[in-house]
Amino acid sequence: MAVAAGRQPVHVKKGDTVEVIAGKHRGKRGKVLKVLLKDAKVIIEAVNLVKRHSKPTQKLPQGGIVEKEASLYSSRVMLVCPKCGKAARVAHGYLADGTKVRMCKNCGEQIER
Ligand SMILES: [Zn+2]
Repeated sequence: MAVAAGRQPVHVKKGDTVEVIAGKHRGKRGKVLKVLLKDAKVIIEAVNLVKRHSKPTQKLPQGGIVEKEASLYSSRVMLVCPKCGKAARVAHGYLADGTKVRMCKNCGEQIER
C-alpha cells in the first residue's frame, strides 16, 4: 500500500485494544473507536476525554457539557496483544496463501485482522 510522503502509516485498526505509551494518558487502555488516517491519529474509547459545551439540541434541550473522546497521535499507542495481554510490537508476515497477517513480537501469536 502506498503511503504519502512524510506521513506515518497508522499501525492500529478500529476495534483494536491499545495501550497509550506516551503523554499524559500513558498506561491507559481502550478500544480504538476511530482511525484518522490523514492525521495519523486515533480516537480511543474513554481515553483523552474532553468536556465540550454543547448548544441545546432536540436530544439535549437544555444544552450543557458533554464528555467526548479527543484524538491522540497513533505513535503514542501500542497494540495490546489479545493472546498475551501485553502492549506488543507488531510484526507483519504472510501466510502460505499470501494473506497478510499481524503477529505479536512477544508471544509470536497471530493477531486477528
Ligand atoms: Zn502476544
